[in-house]
Amino acid sequence: MIELRGIRKSFAGNEVLHGVDVVVPEGQVTALIGPSGSGKSTLLRCVNLLDAPDAGRLTLGEESLEFQPGRPPARAAVQRIRQQTGMVFQNFQLFPHRTAVQNVMEGLVTVKGWSRERARERALGLLDKVGLREKADAWPSSLSGGQQQRVAIARALAPEPRVLLCDEPTSALDPGLAAEVVAVLADLAAEGMTMLMATHDLRLAAQVARQTVFLQDGAVVEARPSAELFRNPQDPRTQRFVATLK
Ligand code: ATP
Ligand code: MG
Repeated sequence: MIELRGIRKSFAGNEVLHGVDVVVPEGQVTALIGPSGSGKSTLLRCVNLLDAPDAGRLTLGEESLEFQPGRPPARAAVQRIRQQTGMVFQNFQLFPHRTAVQNVMEGLVTVKGWSRERARERALGLLDKVGLREKADAWPSSLSGGQQQRVAIARALAPEPRVLLCDEPTSALDPGLAAEVVAVLADLAAEGMTMLMATHDLRLAAQVARQTVFLQDGAVVEARPSAELFRNPQDPRTQRFVATLK
């Protein structure tokens, strides 16, 4: 479960999240949609604490943290939260000088202290899961964007995070390659992975996310089951935005 309550975040005195509430139940997927600059990436970064919220409460599984202005959270608690999250980015962010399997096993060796043999075995299993076992020894530059993103998903899953955060995972991909990534994320959703993902991809939100949250100007406008939100948006702002999605 991911629970965000009253999350506020400012940059240099400019508040960009104005008390956001989002709850992703255990084993479910929530999509975050909204115009550019509405605060989707910032909200995701408030979950893995790449950006600490200024106020509000974050609960991730058994771990719960309350934020107060001028009082940074304890480092140990930040570490515990961060270890429970995996993150997938729009532009993949693979290490270019490491092969696919090396990208996936890297964190297991350097952060978790696993032996290379054990890490490689788990990494190969994950590459198999995303349909890329035969690309284990390929360099990122020789892979398609969709393949690179699937390696990035395998890498994010390697330390067995409790939740997966995705920031526009299909936005850099042509429709055919995006479909490969949607299929992998749909499989993960079916296995009960808890996910929060920012996306402009209507297909991704509609096919994978049970709930969709529409964010505008740093505030939640509407949060409903995805099928309902896309078919029958209630708020005029949601209606206008949904009409722009393809
Ligand atoms: P997009 O769809 O373009 O990815 P977004 O919904 O992810 O947009 P954010 O990147 O979260 O939006 O940005 C929300 C607001 O916060 C924007 O006004 C942005 O300029 C501001 N912002 C985000 N990060 C920073 C930062 N590190 N420093 C200053 N302002 C920031
Ligand atoms: Mg963003």
